[in-house]
Amino acid sequence: MVTRISLETGTTAPTGSTNAYLIEAGEGLVIDPAAQSPRLDTVIQERDISHLALTHHHPDHVGAVSHYATEYDLTVWARYGRTTEFANATGIEPDRQFVVGEPLPVGGDLQVVDTPGHAPEHVSFAVEQSGSTILITGDLALASGSVVVGAPEGDMRAYLSSLRRIRAMKPMRLYPGHGPVIDEPQKVCDRLIAHRLAREAKIKIAVAAGHRTVDALVDDVYEKDISGVEYLAKATVRAHLEKLAVEGHVVWDGQHARVHGD
Ligand SMILES: [Zn+2]
Repeated sequence: MVTRISLETGTTAPTGSTNAYLIEAGEGLVIDPAAQSPRLDTVIQERDISHLALTHHHPDHVGAVSHYATEYDLTVWARYGRTTEFANATGIEPDRQFVVGEPLPVGGDLQVVDTPGHAPEHVSFAVEQSGSTILITGDLALASGSVVVGAPEGDMRAYLSSLRRIRAMKPMRLYPGHGPVIDEPQKVCDRLIAHRLAREAKIKIAVAAGHRTVDALVDDVYEKDISGVEYLAKATVRAHLEKLAVEGHVVWDGQHARVHGD
């Protein structure tokens, strides 16, 4: 019922590829057609797929949206309120808009789940399959390693809530945007949440110790070699500082962080 097709996209994700998914429920849905491939063409035709949707608008997920939408006359869906961003990212106007928390009306038992954090418009698609739930989760989770949640676009508070929301659904399996299928969703969600909270704890300690700028915090908090991806580390630290500031743990003015009363 769910088919995964790995597509070469040159993404910065460790695999260098992005997964497109085909759901054979109702009128059929393709999710994240990131690049053209003969296999994707074949499957869309053979299974008579009629609809197209995205987990989010990042460039490594949208590459062949306009091609497949036009070639196979697919009905293109975008998140309600995000049609301009959708059109800017894909080059085509969506036909219809879906609402998070509601079924995707393409026939079949398909639900749209709000999972922001990695990107503001990020959603997952829940499919009921013989009594259990499976989820197409885009860049919410990876079988190993972690996704980028970086300011200004990424929202660490929202990201952790999204992981907890998915975990609470007790899905049987997650189908991620990159890499292999996740057979132990609870375990992977726990690992990803723990990873973020561990780094957050380190940042809190570093701020209290007097590391005030993003550069100083990156130097202090990251132990592994991050040469080449310093910009991602900086964006991640910013996302953590924004979360810590909202929660009242640090004062953060966009340039300098400190603890209250410091
Ligand atoms: Zn992404």
